[in-house]
Amino acid sequence: MNEILIRGGTLVTADGRQRADLLCRDGLIAEIGEGLDAGAGTEVIDAGGCFVMPGGIDPHTHLQLPMMGTVVADDFYTGTAAAAAGGTTAIIDFVGPERDQSPLEALAIWQDWADKATIDYGFHMTVAWWGARFSEEMEALVRQHGITSFKFFLAYKGGLMLPDAEIIEGFMRCRELGALAQVHAENGELIAHLQAKAIAAGITSPLGHALSRPSICEGEATGRAIAMAEIVDVPLYVVHVSAAQAADAIRHAQGRGVKVIAETLPGFLAIDDSVYRHPDFDFAAGHVMSPPYRPREHQAALWQAVQDGTLSTTGTDHCCFTKAQKQLGEHDFRKIPNGCGGIEDRLHVLWHLGVNGGRITPEQFVALTSANAAKSFNLWPRKGRLEVGADADVIVLDPARTKTLSAASQYQNTDFSVWEGMQVQGVVMHTVSRGAHLWADGDLRSEPGRGRYLPRTPFGGPYQGRV
Ligand SMILES: [Zn+2]
Repeated sequence: MNEILIRGGTLVTADGRQRADLLCRDGLIAEIGEGLDAGAGTEVIDAGGCFVMPGGIDPHTHLQLPMMGTVVADDFYTGTAAAAAGGTTAIIDFVGPERDQSPLEALAIWQDWADKATIDYGFHMTVAWWGARFSEEMEALVRQHGITSFKFFLAYKGGLMLPDAEIIEGFMRCRELGALAQVHAENGELIAHLQAKAIAAGITSPLGHALSRPSICEGEATGRAIAMAEIVDVPLYVVHVSAAQAADAIRHAQGRGVKVIAETLPGFLAIDDSVYRHPDFDFAAGHVMSPPYRPREHQAALWQAVQDGTLSTTGTDHCCFTKAQKQLGEHDFRKIPNGCGGIEDRLHVLWHLGVNGGRITPEQFVALTSANAAKSFNLWPRKGRLEVGADADVIVLDPARTKTLSAASQYQNTDFSVWEGMQVQGVVMHTVSRGAHLWADGDLRSEPGRGRYLPRTPFGGPYQGRV
């Protein structure tokens, strides 16, 4: 029997808070109450003065992904270990088939890679191409393998982008199977046009990346994806919302009853597009991701959307590369591997800017970092809450402690951080993942292979999401 007693803290969930002790036993939350006793052999974590919350769920990661002629720097071990050090106890990563590759075959490859994860993980499927075989295999993915969310791309012309006609067919298939449709919403045609224009004008630096992906491209594609989902009547999840126009489109749709769930990333709430004008290539290229960081005025609109519930989940889109990998695009911004890290930093940044900044309550923090992702992706009630019988995925955060985020001290397997030098107050002191004490005040006790796969159930007909 394995027992951990978390004593003396304030338990916070999406719904409220209470002073209580929490006992984990054999991977589950076994008891919650005041003055719980520790038995012989029970490990005790002192949570005095601290907040005890559900472990973070990061619904948007890319570990070990082969991409743009290289492979993401964090594999399923280093990435999930870094996650644990930052208070995240579950991720949902994206399986990415090659063009014309069987999605079931791709899943087998990802399952093999993910075997070494140290925290629990689930998968979304990227709809990397469309055809009869893909559509057929979706049934087995949903019913046998527990993959109940499928991501469609309106961006990346000549790559992952699908024409609207195929997206509509894919959405219909999702509806039929009780799956959630996800979209990367940027207008790929316009971006290709603007990229060519930038190159023709001699702009090859990372600035060209931002110039060729203006926020109007995201606003348009978000509205178009919503229209398709509304007509097909399938629930839609919009990943990594970065633009005010996109948030507005989502708010309008939700207001008239369309089932749209949307996610943002901490970076979009705090980093602006001036990073792309930085003279140091490593710095500018280190921030290249899609969509890009936006002009500063978008940040207030996104915070507003977070506060009013338009954006209900946060992920990281963790997809990190080293400076050397980013050099692939030294002479052409189109060849810079797209992606930034952050799996380790999400909770710290959101607590610091959100809770300390007076923008969100601790309860909203739990909703944004854990509970709403669990609800949106059918991991609830097993994850995302502190209740007897739920998985013992629990973190202890000390609101008084401070820490400086830096590439030099991070566990993320890269030499760059978009949060370099940022001092945050509110530090995750302990991470318990399904009953295992993986992070103990600076001591990372991750172990390859202890994470378990999280198959998810379909929504049983038209989605009845709780968010
Ligand atoms: Zn992504």
